[in-house]
Amino acid sequence: MRSATDPNYQKPLTRLIDVAAGPLGLAGYEAEGGYRALKTAVKELQPQDIQARVKDANLRGRGGAGFPTGIKWSLIPMGPDAGAKYLVCNADEMEPGTFKDRLLMEQAPHQLVEAMATAAYAIGAQTGYIFLRGEYVVAAERLNRAIDEAKAAGYLGKNILGGAWSFELYVHTGAGRYICGEETALINSLEGRRANPRAKPPFPQIAGLWGRPTIVNNVETLCNIPHIVLNGADWFKGLNQGKSKDGGTKLYGCSGRANKPGVWELPIGTSARELLEVHAGGMRGGKKLKAWLPGGASTDFLLPEHLDLAMDFDTIAKAGSRMGTGLITVVAEDQSMVSAVRNLEEFFARESCGWCTPCRDGLPWSVKLLRAIERGEGVPEDIDHLAKLTRWLGPGKTFCAHAPGAMEPLQSALKYFRAEFEAGLAVNHIPKEGDACILPD
Ligand code: NAD
Repeated sequence: MRSATDPNYQKPLTRLIDVAAGPLGLAGYEAEGGYRALKTAVKELQPQDIQARVKDANLRGRGGAGFPTGIKWSLIPMGPDAGAKYLVCNADEMEPGTFKDRLLMEQAPHQLVEAMATAAYAIGAQTGYIFLRGEYVVAAERLNRAIDEAKAAGYLGKNILGGAWSFELYVHTGAGRYICGEETALINSLEGRRANPRAKPPFPQIAGLWGRPTIVNNVETLCNIPHIVLNGADWFKGLNQGKSKDGGTKLYGCSGRANKPGVWELPIGTSARELLEVHAGGMRGGKKLKAWLPGGASTDFLLPEHLDLAMDFDTIAKAGSRMGTGLITVVAEDQSMVSAVRNLEEFFARESCGWCTPCRDGLPWSVKLLRAIERGEGVPEDIDHLAKLTRWLGPGKTFCAHAPGAMEPLQSALKYFRAEFEAGLAVNHIPKEGDACILPD
């Protein structure tokens, strides 16, 4: 329920969300303290003060990689001669099993608009774009309405709040390609080019949109900014309730064979067990958990024995995976890991932009091998080839993280469930009914 004007609220990102009532318009948002952070920033703080606050808060990027936001911002040129700069919100949420930014954009659009205006002030950007997944039509309507209202109230546009700084904000909808979520492919797409990734470095902070310094941040990352500006770095760090060395809350979620899939704002470092057993109501049909993905399809599978780990970037990395987006996908004991991985690799193969050879040719090859094993027609070399592909398409072998990410579920499935792959070799295969996969075909 909507409540808090209390600055010590523990769920800053979702505190004003009431899905049944719908999003607050401008007046309702202002009545709950909305746009106070932007006013504080513009009237009382220098851009560098806000950058320092975000750096001290140790806010880590919520798009999946966990790069420290304050460090990213500190790389953008500042000063009177810095020229045109851009702020881009990466709202191209297409990671399978990930639906957290959608909630924020559909249910709290003014929060994101205020966040972008405040962040743009902090980095000295004059223009911003929300690069939005094309299928998110409700979010597009609500964000555009919020932008119009904010502009009419003087929170966007020329001479914001009567000062010298001006900032224009636009929603740009993508055309449904996963690769547009990769920040340099996104920038190419915004420029009207084909969405191929660019080589990094240079990072966008130095040469981004139209060759100008550009900060690209995820929706959830940005939505934290007004709260850090108002309440400070120590308050933000304390939101973790001692569960992690990272600060803040995290929008976690669960999908797959769970009773009540959903998304919840919780202290960062909450365990996956709490996500599954308390918030998602446990496994559907009383089945046992076989494996789980910590945060989207481009992460390594973990096992039930990992459920008590803190869901934060470093802890999950130490366990051999990545927290990614933090929305877990659970696989039940009666699901086939070969089918699950085949299903994910089909997605990745379809979404490859084709720019570099290992990704363009390697991903369809993995699907072909997995299909053969799934049908019980594999030959022993198929498993060796799959293992080789996880190296040939691994980190450093491709332009961007797409193929290395795609190899994560495959390499971990081979590590933990090799016997299931071996059972799909023609020499070992005993046909059985009812093998199922994570996602519908
Ligand atoms: P990355 O680690 O290369 O970069 C993450 C961010 O940090 C980028 O903004 C990058 O510019 C910055 N960065 C990294 N190293 C830097 C350096 N040395 N100097 C300056 N800036 C630096 O990761 P990535 O390829 O941008 O993203 C991969 C992640 O995206 C994966 O973790 C995956 O989980 C996630 N992902 C999320 C979605 C989604 O829908 N949310 C979709 C696909 C992938």
